[in-house]
Order: sequence, then structure tokens, then C-alpha cells
Amino acid sequence: MITQTLSIALLALAGGTSAHPPEIGQPLPAWREGELDIHHVNTGRGDALFFIFPDGTTLLEDASGKTVEAAPFSLPTRPDASRPPGEWVARYVQRVLPKGRGKIDYALISHFHGDHMGAIVKDSPLASGGAYQLSGITLIPEFVPIATILDRGWPTYDFPAPIRGATVDNYRRFLDWQIAHRGLKVERFAPGRNDQIALLHEAGRYPTFEIRNLYSNGRVWSGKGNGTRDLFPALETLPEREQPIENILSNAFVVRYGKFDYFSGGDLSDERVAIPGAASSWKQVEKPVAEAAGRIDAMKANHHGSWDANSAPFLATLQPRVIVVTSRAEGHPAVNTWNRLTSKELWPDERDIFVTNVSEATARTTYGIDKEARSTQGHVVIRAAAGGDSYRVFVLEDGDERMQVKAVFGPYTSN
Ligand SMILES: [Zn+2]
Repeated sequence: MITQTLSIALLALAGGTSAHPPEIGQPLPAWREGELDIHHVNTGRGDALFFIFPDGTTLLEDASGKTVEAAPFSLPTRPDASRPPGEWVARYVQRVLPKGRGKIDYALISHFHGDHMGAIVKDSPLASGGAYQLSGITLIPEFVPIATILDRGWPTYDFPAPIRGATVDNYRRFLDWQIAHRGLKVERFAPGRNDQIALLHEAGRYPTFEIRNLYSNGRVWSGKGNGTRDLFPALETLPEREQPIENILSNAFVVRYGKFDYFSGGDLSDERVAIPGAASSWKQVEKPVAEAAGRIDAMKANHHGSWDANSAPFLATLQPRVIVVTSRAEGHPAVNTWNRLTSKELWPDERDIFVTNVSEATARTTYGIDKEARSTQGHVVIRAAAGGDSYRVFVLEDGDERMQVKAVFGPYTSN
């Protein structure tokens, strides 16, 4: 990790930035009406992104929660193991939820893996209502109610084949109970739409704000109206070993606010990245998804920066100025992926890369990461100014709940 002093010096060289951001060492200033906040909440155990839109509408994408038992190369829970990851996420949300808002407006499950929705194991505790077990997303409403949940499977959970297992079976009991007792709404994430996740409070004040659903279940936005096209062949003709894996079914979307664009795509990946010719070309979903997004300002790297994600054509199309890698295991980000993320041959412009955790093993094998990454530990918050013309990045201490700012980067000009 570059030192704080050096990062400030670099910022001063870049021009236009105070050499001593007043926020350093202080708690993150509260979100204000008109700003767009994107919190990459770091538990060390999986993805959890919390968005506060300009009118105070909120979206939680994923809720962390890989179990240690299931992940031999896993990282320690942040701040510590005294609470499960989903509970740390819920408490973080409680701290930053805009004043007067008693609930999360939207929660989105990017795909059905335990490091995104919360893995259920034998000892996972029962909900207060008794109908399901608690981990990740099912834990959140014990702390903050959720109004609407979107996922890729509702209501049948059968694409490309019946989706089963302890975690998903428990999640469906959770949905049924929350619908019956808490008025939860559930919808399938619909690629192509720009009105499924919408401003709920003051939409008229922010006409340039939009969430465009780009991709889900093999279907990508066509770029025209709400149209989509299917990237997959007829799956029923394919043998079991050729069926798509869960990661390439992930929901992806772009948040647009004036000139500012942010991309998030769960664990989308590209099986040909490492072994050309090893996978069917229709499984290379990253490139068409990036083409649907167009050039963006900032993004969450796909699949925790794993070896098989963030392909060359994907990055060359998006050309992000800011990249956040939400790592959760040793090997995140992988050395080959790091080389693509930093390659000036893919696109020539400057970029800043923030990694939520870098283990000692990863620092030894992903050469250069400790010197080149803007941060290697902590929550990462992207905050777009009112109107979206510029944005800053805050790195927060994740070893406690004080929300202390460790470093500030920017302002960056939105493209
Ligand atoms: Zn994952």
C-alpha cells in the first residue's frame, strides 16, 4: 500500500486537490441530498454494496457471508469474527442510512452464491420468526427492513435448471415469510429495463439519474429501448458439462448520474481468459455486457478480481478511471487479472485501483499490488457530487465501526 503521505503528494501533483483533505482521520461525512454514494462494505467474506441515490432511495446489492468452513483460502472477517458478516453489513447500513428512512428500498442478489447472499450451514441461527435460518441477506431484516428484493430466479428458480441447496432453499423460505408477514415485494431482475430500480422520493429533481439493467441469465440489453438479446444457445440441447455456471448468470447494471457512470456485474467472468479455445464463445459474456454499458467512470471488478474475470476486451471497452476489487480470499486479485487491470496497452489512460483486502500471500504473488494499488485494506466509498460532474473516493478503516477516513482521492472529473 502506498503511504498516506505519498498518496496525498500524488494527488497534489495531479492538481486541483487539497494537499490535506480535512476528512482524513474523521468519520466519513454523512451523505447529503443530491449526492450519490456507493459503499463497498468490506467484511472480508464476500460482496456487499450499499448505494444511496441522490433523493435518498437506497439499494443493497448482496449481503456478504461466505462461511469459513466452505472456503479454505478465505480471509478473516472484518472488523472481527465476533459477529457474522451479514450482521456487520446490516450495522454498516444502519449507520449510513439517510435520516428519516427506516428501511432499505431495494435489495438485489447478484447471483445465488454464499459469498453474495450468505451461506447457510448447520449451525446458522434461526430467525426471530423461526421460519428460516440467518446468514447474509436473510439476516438484514433483523436489523433493517427491506421493501423490495430482486434476484435472477423469482418466482420459479429454475433457470437453467432447478436451483437447489441449503442456502437457496432457506432463502426461498425467507422470501415466503417476509412476503406474508412483512409485506416484502419480490421481482425477477429484468435486463434491458431502466425503471425497475427507480428513485422513489424525488425523481423529478434528478432527471439525469438512471439505473439501466444490462444483463441477467444470458440476456443482454440491446441498446434500444428496453430490448434484449439472448447470448446463449438452446441450453436443452447441451450436455450437463456444457451448461452455464452460476457466475455467468449474474445480474449486471449501470448507474448513471449526469456524466457519471458506474458498473456492477456480480461474478461475471470469461472462461476463455486463461485458456483460449477451452470454452464455448457464448460463455464469453463480459464483452457484450461491457458493450451494452459503454465507457464508464468507475466499477466494481467482476468476480473479486479472480483469474477468470475482467477480460481484456471487457476492460478495453469500459476503460474505467476507478476500479474497486472486492476481494474475499487469497488470490484476489489474481496476478494475471492485476496485469490486465493495470495494462496501459488495453487502454492508455490513468486509473486508480482500490482493493478491499490484500492478504500476505496475495501481496507476494500478485506482483506490484502493494505499490500500485491506491488502497489494500478497508471499505471503499465512491461519492459523486450533486449532478454527477465529479466524484471522490474515500477509503475507510474497517477494523472497527467508527467509519474513520484513511485516505481521500479525487475529485475525478466524470466523462
Ligand atoms: Zn463471489
